[in-house]
Amino acid sequence: MENNVTRYIAPEELLANKIILITGAGDGIGKTAALTYAKYGATIILVGRTLNKLEAVYDEIEASGYPTPAIFPLNLESAQEADYSALHDAISEEFGRLDGILHNAAELGPRTLLQQYASEQWHKVMQVNATAPFMLSKALIPLFNTSSRGSIIFTSSDVGQKGKAYWGAYAASKAAANNIMQVLADEYDETNTLRANSINPGAVSTGMRAAAFPAEDPSTIKSAESIMPAYLYLMGKDSIDVNGEIVNAQ
Ligand code: NDP
Repeated sequence: MENNVTRYIAPEELLANKIILITGAGDGIGKTAALTYAKYGATIILVGRTLNKLEAVYDEIEASGYPTPAIFPLNLESAQEADYSALHDAISEEFGRLDGILHNAAELGPRTLLQQYASEQWHKVMQVNATAPFMLSKALIPLFNTSSRGSIIFTSSDVGQKGKAYWGAYAASKAAANNIMQVLADEYDETNTLRANSINPGAVSTGMRAAAFPAEDPSTIKSAESIMPAYLYLMGKDSIDVNGEIVNAQ
């Protein structure tokens, strides 16, 4: 499947009339996914913690003539059940349904020995990368149409599949995210409500990558644009029967 996925050519109208929520939509891969999904016809709900970044993406989508998006500022580190409930109600009122979620936002956290890993940092990374996707999915799945088999995409990482020295809570949180994805995928397998999968982006030139590998020359690694075929594939109808998979985007 992988080769086909990384070379997937999406039909122009792949996401026409779809309502898709993206977390961490203001920067990096999430921003590129927002612009890409909008280009293919989706109405995007831009979720993130930095309003001016979300507004810049909103303006870029509008200026390109794509469907008008919506903005919902949310800090995934501090968001509580009531905040997710408010998001549910806002989407319900504005759109009446949801067709897809891209759980993209993440914190890198410190890169240090577990033995020296600060507990507050541990909780923060686990909260943003693993608990928030659970809480967001829980709150928003009722908005999925029970006959459309919408798409929920989690974002993985190599270190989520095999832990590696110094990657601490980031590695553990990505393993947890994959596992939450598999639980969801199994729970909905016999239904037409949704499918759940993970994307492993591979090395991509973003702020997070630069923070993790400061000595690396960014021009030697892939751009966020170059991995969009896998993001389009997993969000669109051509992956309707794919469920519970971890897909490499490169
Ligand atoms: P960036 O750091 O460039 O972007 C992360 C986004 O998440 C930002 O928009 C950021 O918001 C948002 N975010 C972080 N914390 C919170 C929070 N508490 N509440 C709301 N939003 C938050 O990262 P990438 O684009 O590189 O990463 C995207 C995904 O891909 C992540 O899940 C990452 O783990 C994964 N990944 C990336 C790889 C890479 O090489 N780039 C490799 C493997 C996986 P703000 O802009 O306000 O900071």
